[in-house]
Amino acid sequence: MATLRFHAVKKSLSYKTVNYQEKDRRSEIFGKHVFNENTMRQYLTKDAFLSVMNAIQLGKKMDRTMADQVASSMKDWALSKGVTHYTHWFQPLTGATAEKHDAFFETIGNGMAIEKFGGTQLVQQEPDASSFPNGGIRNTFEARGYTAWDPTSPAFIYGTTLCIPTIFVAYTGEALDYKTPLLRALNAIDDAATDVCKYFDKNVKKVTASLGWEQEYFLIDKLLVASRPDITLTGRTLLGHTSAKGQQLDDHYFGSIPTRALNFMKDLEIECMLLGIPVKTRHNEVAPNQFELAPIFEEANLAVDHNSLLMDIMGRVASRHNFKVLLHEKPFAGINGSGKHNNWSLSTDTGVNLLAPGKTPMSNLQFLTFFVNTIKAVYKHEALLRAAIASASNDHRLGANEAPPAIISVFIGEQLTKVLEELEGVTKGKLSPEEKTELKLNVVGKIPDVLLDNTDRNRTSPFAFTGNKFEFRAVGSTANCGNPMTVLNTIVAKQLKDFKAEVDNLIDKKDLKKDEAIFNVLREYIKSCRNILFEGNGYGKEWEEEAKKRGLSNHKTTPEALKARISKETIALFEEMQVMSKVETQARFEIEVEAYIMHIQIESRVLGDIARNHIVPTAVKYQNILIENVKGLKEIFEKKFSTVSKEQINLIEDISRHIEAINAKVTSMIDQRKKANAITDIQKKADAYCNKVKPFFNEIRYHCDKLELLVDDELWPLTKYRELLFTR
Ligand code: ADP
Ligand code: MG
Repeated sequence: MATLRFHAVKKSLSYKTVNYQEKDRRSEIFGKHVFNENTMRQYLTKDAFLSVMNAIQLGKKMDRTMADQVASSMKDWALSKGVTHYTHWFQPLTGATAEKHDAFFETIGNGMAIEKFGGTQLVQQEPDASSFPNGGIRNTFEARGYTAWDPTSPAFIYGTTLCIPTIFVAYTGEALDYKTPLLRALNAIDDAATDVCKYFDKNVKKVTASLGWEQEYFLIDKLLVASRPDITLTGRTLLGHTSAKGQQLDDHYFGSIPTRALNFMKDLEIECMLLGIPVKTRHNEVAPNQFELAPIFEEANLAVDHNSLLMDIMGRVASRHNFKVLLHEKPFAGINGSGKHNNWSLSTDTGVNLLAPGKTPMSNLQFLTFFVNTIKAVYKHEALLRAAIASASNDHRLGANEAPPAIISVFIGEQLTKVLEELEGVTKGKLSPEEKTELKLNVVGKIPDVLLDNTDRNRTSPFAFTGNKFEFRAVGSTANCGNPMTVLNTIVAKQLKDFKAEVDNLIDKKDLKKDEAIFNVLREYIKSCRNILFEGNGYGKEWEEEAKKRGLSNHKTTPEALKARISKETIALFEEMQVMSKVETQARFEIEVEAYIMHIQIESRVLGDIARNHIVPTAVKYQNILIENVKGLKEIFEKKFSTVSKEQINLIEDISRHIEAINAKVTSMIDQRKKANAITDIQKKADAYCNKVKPFFNEIRYHCDKLELLVDDELWPLTKYRELLFTR
């Protein structure tokens, strides 16, 4: 087996980097493989074009003849680009994207055939829902599910397939994917935010949530990964001693990008350009062989689709460059993990970013309104927000002492903290003319200047305000952004709805002027949600203690965090905002708990196998060599034997101790797994996997890693950290 490791290392070092040449300007190829507005204008009749635009902008249903026309034009466009198949492209709750290709090809009798694609095929399909996670919905209802076209996310060509973004729902209408609840949440925030905007500008008709994600990843040589069953099967290393050199020198972050990685990036970026994914930034991250890629932000639903698509494309492009992309949140112990910051904001159809201060006191009051309401929403629903990013793999970041912590808090910077403090002092009820002037000119009016030099950035905060947007940093690198985006937009929508009711009430019942009413409500909000604001070091032990005093939750593990997903409040919230029914909320909870159990179960099995079938036999082999050596020493040295063989005998003993520990612990872990498997209640089962099975991982790893240091390098079967991380 060790030969596989050496073969992999040798081969990976011999790769010649193919220099990736760019032929075209990016602006010229951008969106070439997308059936976007521009392409539609070319291919659709005026009526068909208008009917698609109505569907996109107003959510209007398209009639059959129009759908037929759109489908036919889409097909013509696709055929002109060499496409042979089409697929509904969706995001089931497996975390991956799903597609089932059908050829345009259709026989028409007499041995003849044509290329056909009609409105029916465009609008709806029926994949078998029973093979996708459904959280019990299938048992209570029907096995069938269907996919339905989402015209707000344009169709695109990947390879020789036309991909049509769709939602995926059970036959009875329950959502079985990430997109459906997201679209409903985006609708909810549009309604609630538009209503609130009307206080400031009557012309606002639509508010759109925007998302700009930043994808972190590791790029590891494909062959080296193939020699590691743990990475191959679980996406991360379950063992491996840390490399003598890791990230201590900070020599990777923002350093020059290694040529081989750069060629991968260029190739990937071209693919993204063709697909209309506006990638813009690329750089080295903190850990060796860790990188980041970020696009220009987009409307949230499209941005989520683009991120899901990107994760898929990354794998394919990497393969061409003999790399494997590791999207896992913590592929390597001892060095940084990967996240996916979700930059989020709201903007109006009149072109105003609601989380950016404006030029007039009134527009700044609008900014403050959305700013404070977001903070309040996060405060009220911090546990649910934590649950929205919970997964077995993200626990390695959130639950461990790594960025960011499992405690949700909001960072707003020193200057805005001051502004909120001043607002907190606003008189209750009616304001005197002097007070109004003071507020308008010196508090609200000064915000833009304040923000200009608001350069302090707190990297440890899970949810930070960064000048004109909030940055949700706790999202994991493997996550489908649809999940956190659904929760964030829903909680802010609910908050804005409540805010509107309170302000209206003050205007109607207390006879306050509009801005007085707004100031009054905001003041109470600031008072009530101070506890979520935190400007200090999020990694410190002190913060954990402080957060506890403040009543903030600190759910370090997924089974603990996920409970907030089915609390009474959550169910009521999703129902009220029409984002998910009770059945859907419960189903999602079950799917996520099940996923957790399966992840830990798989890791446990893989670790047990590697420890017993790779590590222990290798250690025994080396021990036998030592034993032969000691026997030889005895023959040669006879009397002096005990002095010359002391170290070898110690080593033999050490190895025995580690082997014994590994065997005992693997046996105990398997016992615990069996017990856990016998539990029928899924919450209890997940708890057992978390608290009874998982703790063995580090214990087993400890002894394996010790053996790695003791055993002859020539015999060691697993590619080592230094080889995985420093082969470029
Ligand atoms: P970093 O966090 O790495 O320092 P930035 O703070 O510059 O980087 O964040 C850049 C990300 O924020 C980009 O993905 C960008 O598209 C996104 N972004 C900028 N403005 C907005 C906005 N109004 N809404 C959503 N995302 C935004
Ligand atoms: Mg960022």
